[in-house]
Amino acid sequence: MSASITYDEDRKTQLIAQYESVKEVVDIEAKKVYVNGDASKVLVLVVSKLKPASDIKILYDHGVREFGENYVQELIEKAKLLPDDIKWHFIGGLQTNKCKDLAKVPNLYSVETVDSLKKAKKLNESRAKFQPDCNPILCNVQINTSLEDQKSGLNNEEEIFEVIEFFLSNECKYIKLNGLMTIGSWNVSHEDSEENRDFATLVEWKKKIDAKFGTSLKLSMGMSADFKEAIRQGTTEVRIGTDILGDRPPKNEARII
Ligand SMILES: *Cc1c(COP(=O)(O)O)cnc(C)c1O
Repeated sequence: MSASITYDEDRKTQLIAQYESVKEVVDIEAKKVYVNGDASKVLVLVVSKLKPASDIKILYDHGVREFGENYVQELIEKAKLLPDDIKWHFIGGLQTNKCKDLAKVPNLYSVETVDSLKKAKKLNESRAKFQPDCNPILCNVQINTSLEDQKSGLNNEEEIFEVIEFFLSNECKYIKLNGLMTIGSWNVSHEDSEENRDFATLVEWKKKIDAKFGTSLKLSMGMSADFKEAIRQGTTEVRIGTDILGDRPPKNEARII
């Protein structure tokens, strides 16, 4: 199936150059932070939402395996078209009634936007029902660090602990707790300051949860505008769209093929 996806050489040259240039900056920053200069500690998740399958195939052929998508239907269609060893991450707003469709995707690797106990339970239950033999989905709990109304994510300690407890319970076998995710406010990420306070808030939550539950949570924070700060503040994953794939079309003009 994936053999039918073709691309042109100019686009290939461009995307590989952009990917490698982001990777180089990530590696430089990561080496400053991690002992022994181990840059492999920071995953570059290529955010491919609204971009065609051919762009993904170019980077796949270059060796990239992890891609992030924001819309359930688009992820499902792309997963059918593209090689099945891609590790898909869902990073969009999660709706309870879409958890089932997501959990059916065999190579859905991660859901980074779990923001309620109800959705965690629904994902676990759906994976158990439809794909019990596939890998458990690695989940991140999304935290609303900027406290903006329009942002998803939890910010209440009681609710956060309740979700974490569910992940650590025996009932939860088909999804696994991986870490925490945040988006952070646009304003904060464009301020000229050393430390991004939304990222600092996510780090505080990690410390609090790790101390209470004995976990060792990963962090997903940082996008094109602010990934360097995120690495300096200890993220283990950056989610990069624009800097690698360029500007996105409006949703109604996006095409998969
Ligand atoms: C779109 C998106 C990204 C990528 O943003 P860029 O600024 O294009 O790098 C990262 N994370 C989430 C949750 C997104 O929705």
